[in-house]
Amino acid sequence: MFVDIAKIHIKAGDGGDGAVAFHREKYVASGGPDGGDGGRGGNIVFVADDNLSTLADFRYKRKYHAQKGENGRGGRCNGKKADDLIIRVPKGTLVKDANTGRLLADISDKEPVIVAKGGKGGWGNPHFATPTRQTPRFAKPGQPGEEYDVQLELKLLADVGIVGFPNVGKSTLISVVSEAKPIIANYHFTTITPVLGVVRMGPEESFVMADIPGLIEGAGDGAGLGHQFLHHVERCRLLVHMVDVSGSEGRDPKEDFRIINEELKKFNPELAERPMIVAGNKCDLTDDETVEKFRKYIEDMGYKFFPVMAAISYEVEPLLKEIQEQLSKLPPIVRYEPEPEILPDADSLAGQEIKVNCQDGVYFVQADGLLRVLRMIDFSDSDSVQYFQRVLISSGVIDALKEAGIEEGDTVSLYDFEFEFVE
Ligand code: GDP
Ligand code: MG
Repeated sequence: MFVDIAKIHIKAGDGGDGAVAFHREKYVASGGPDGGDGGRGGNIVFVADDNLSTLADFRYKRKYHAQKGENGRGGRCNGKKADDLIIRVPKGTLVKDANTGRLLADISDKEPVIVAKGGKGGWGNPHFATPTRQTPRFAKPGQPGEEYDVQLELKLLADVGIVGFPNVGKSTLISVVSEAKPIIANYHFTTITPVLGVVRMGPEESFVMADIPGLIEGAGDGAGLGHQFLHHVERCRLLVHMVDVSGSEGRDPKEDFRIINEELKKFNPELAERPMIVAGNKCDLTDDETVEKFRKYIEDMGYKFFPVMAAISYEVEPLLKEIQEQLSKLPPIVRYEPEPEILPDADSLAGQEIKVNCQDGVYFVQADGLLRVLRMIDFSDSDSVQYFQRVLISSGVIDALKEAGIEEGDTVSLYDFEFEFVE
């Protein structure tokens, strides 16, 4: 079954906790702190897998949690970092934050992409030793791993997309030029999934063709199956618009051409600008004069026209040559850039769960709900620092610190940050 959308939950592993321990040795009265740091939690990593063609597997398994990092131990033994959790998806899968729609990654290339980072391990107690505090009896817990509800959307990577009304011969074309073997039959909607085929033009040259099924009038608004598949056209560098020139089903080829172009444009105006070649199929069912008239109509609009008989591969070669020629001049298939996360309004962060814990005069704050924001703040920028101060107030961190009895000049430790408390 062809599934091109799925929703899953991913959670990277939490960091391991730092250890509180002291060096012990015979005849040594009181050794120094030697608690190890916790290990990093496992990342959630996405990898493109050429053997996958749909997101069907994700209908049954929806939760993906990476392991926690190992806790630190005495004797300065740092905890091991946890293994990354690898999620394999078909090439061309977009990973979006399901709650905001923000694009986190486009898994279209070989390189694995970390989508959710594992939490850092907490520091062991030696990190907290100072000249005045030689036996720190505390360590830090590991930080939580990043967590998202994500929407996976497959957006096929094909160089050429074949578009056109049902039954004009799109599947036939892809089957005679590539190894793809879609179902071909003389009725509408035989093909109910997009099909990819690799067209080999030479020992080193090839391109990927996609048969985009189900387009009819109204597809751009959701009629038929077209809407579901139109987004697979979006990355195609070139479109081949196939038309039944013979009008064998009683429609006017000129109208067909106009209607499908309208639908593409309605779905995404950029598609109207996409380079397009027109293939007039089923030439065997009509006369030369009709074909030539249609050719003139198409060429007058500035498109290249290729009459073919896909079923018997007749005159398919010149069409393929032209496709190859045009592709060689076009930019590569688009990769979408992940969108940066926008800092939320400081006031929207009110009502966090905040824990303050005072140890040896250091106020440790735990507010996991703020971690994502804290990780985004650039402390070299003064606006960001002001934002950080506003967040501390609006989220209730300052109030919680006061409640715990903090005084001017005391040290606050908030995850990776340490600062002096000032009113
Ligand atoms: P699709 O719906 O656009 O994918 O169309 P198909 O490839 O399934 O073809 C629809 C019908 O048209 C099938 O019965 C094909 O055998 C037939 N067909 C394809 N190419 C030609 C052709 O060049 N001439 C004729 N007469 N029929 C063709
Ligand atoms: Mg078909």
